[in-house]
Amino acid sequence: MAVITDSQALANLDETLSPTQIVEMSIKQILTVPNPVLKQVSRPVENVTDDTRKLMDDMLQTMYAAPGIGLAAIQIGIPLRVIVMDLAGEDEKPAPRYFVNPEIIEDVEELKAWEEGCLSVPDFYEEVERPERVKLRYLNYYGEEVVEWAEGMYATCIQHEMDHLNGVLFIDHLSRLKRQRAIRKVKKAARDKQLETSE
Ligand SMILES: [Zn+2]
Repeated sequence: MAVITDSQALANLDETLSPTQIVEMSIKQILTVPNPVLKQVSRPVENVTDDTRKLMDDMLQTMYAAPGIGLAAIQIGIPLRVIVMDLAGEDEKPAPRYFVNPEIIEDVEELKAWEEGCLSVPDFYEEVERPERVKLRYLNYYGEEVVEWAEGMYATCIQHEMDHLNGVLFIDHLSRLKRQRAIRKVKKAARDKQLETSE
């Protein structure tokens, strides 16, 4: 997911990375709509290995640099069920979270509308209604199973990111008209950028 304010990104990079990590991590390109890769269904990770952790490290750095608060592996073109997230506020210490093979095992009927954005749909924000609390089961950075309830922004963000694992974008929850407007806006911005760099 994306946020509107962005001064957190660089501070997070400084505080969370050791010098060796800075050498080893790399910022990946984030795919944007209408790239068909984003519609792929991601496959489960068999074992959480050093390769998985390297992927999560790269994803986290890519997310901080964007800047965003959540990123799914498919957004950098890797069809694996892996998500990274950091919901810390601007004045708080970074709090990275890692999810491998996340599942929602229970939710509540109450819906909550949040204004969502997405690094794959840059500069477009719309409200989406989702269950306000969900019970999650996932593997963490070390491959340990975690079961917990998510609520508030955490609940919204994890549902947004888990949609990515199934090839669903937040704009797919909007009317066809709004979805088309979002895609047109992103395509136009990409075209304008290309024009700028070729001049
Ligand atoms: Zn997204």
